[in-house]
Amino acid sequence: MQKLNTDVPVVPEMFLLKMGELVLKGLNRKTFEQRLMGNLQRRLYPYGQFRTYSRQSIAYVEPMNEDCDLDGAWEGMQKIFGFASLSRARACRKDKDAFFEAVKNYLHEDLMNARTFKVESKRSDKHFPMTSIELSQYVGGLIAEAYPHLTVDVHNPELVVHLEVRDFAGYVHANAAQGAGGLPVGSAGRAVALLSGGLDSPVACYMMAKRGLALEMVHFFSYPYTSEEAKEKVLDLAKLISPYCGRLTVNIVPFTSIQEDLRRNCPEPYFTIAMRRYMMRISEMVADRVGAHALVTGESLGQVASQTMEAMECTGAVCRLPVFRPVIGMDKEEIVKIARKIGTFETSILPYEDCCTVFTPRHPRTHPKVSELEEIEKNYNWQALCQEAFDHIERIQIRPQD
Ligand code: ATP
Ligand code: MG
Repeated sequence: MQKLNTDVPVVPEMFLLKMGELVLKGLNRKTFEQRLMGNLQRRLYPYGQFRTYSRQSIAYVEPMNEDCDLDGAWEGMQKIFGFASLSRARACRKDKDAFFEAVKNYLHEDLMNARTFKVESKRSDKHFPMTSIELSQYVGGLIAEAYPHLTVDVHNPELVVHLEVRDFAGYVHANAAQGAGGLPVGSAGRAVALLSGGLDSPVACYMMAKRGLALEMVHFFSYPYTSEEAKEKVLDLAKLISPYCGRLTVNIVPFTSIQEDLRRNCPEPYFTIAMRRYMMRISEMVADRVGAHALVTGESLGQVASQTMEAMECTGAVCRLPVFRPVIGMDKEEIVKIARKIGTFETSILPYEDCCTVFTPRHPRTHPKVSELEEIEKNYNWQALCQEAFDHIERIQIRPQD
């Protein structure tokens, strides 16, 4: 992947991606960087053939032919965790006049549309004969001459022309976009995320993927109490977050017999909590199968009866793995804001039944005790029911390009 030649890329446009937090990683940095470059290659796949290489915390992406979808790649790359910022750029020879030529050709329209500008240069190739200030002044002078309508404004310019003197070539760019931030997906290991059709769990998945977790999704499905459409909705949500999370598998767990058994054998006020204990147990079985070391849920403290502290004590008590609840301290409004940003909001709010809403108790117990649940569970064979559900999981693969 690493290309170490000094040819100037001859493509009209390419991308420079600045790596974010992982540059702080010291000894592990190489591993993080390799992971990020692997993720980048995979995410670019639907947009055509690209050459990628990295050097000094920058990933370089060059289209290899005319069929590449540059706008698609540009959008897609903004969702890859691990990059702090991205620029579309033109490469040029490392020569002061070549820089100006590239500016003129590549940024002509931006220069015509702006009234004020400044040039900012960065020189990481210390063999370049000018300082960055000298280069900015030189190219800035030529720009002012060629575009007499422009004036220099160093404090608040409409257009900032960036020149970079790097290892392989010079680069000219103007409009950087913010990267997705975070750490490369997979660099923190794998976790199992409980994905319902609501607002919170897709946001929770996004937040944990941002911290470098690769996610395996689990959805509990109670056909015919919940419809095929409800399942499709969950798969749609998984698709919507996969540009952030990468390829993922959704485990559809048949949950009907468990819910019917609960209705027969569990006192109504405890129904939801008992059901959620099943969810945690089966999710942990999935985690063991795929080598995951945590569970992720979209619980938010106090949002509903099953999300009181005591309720979470009861659900957490049945699993050995840590449970990550990234939205635990967030208000609905804050969660909605992220859902809108990542594009899951519209799908999440579509009306549907979840298995949690099908048998909602009229008076749920809000402060259950672990001992009460343990007593209730003596009335039914939860081990066998967990195993039965686990053995009939349907696994569906989701890729970002689907
Ligand atoms: P969401 O908006 O994510 O649906 P919620 O506020 O509706 O959450 P609950 O229905 O109590 O809350 O569920 C809490 C969490 O339990 C969810 O965020 C999700 O992680 C998990 N969960 C609930 N229902 C399911 C399901 N059918 N399949 C998988 N996970 C579920
Ligand atoms: Mg829900």
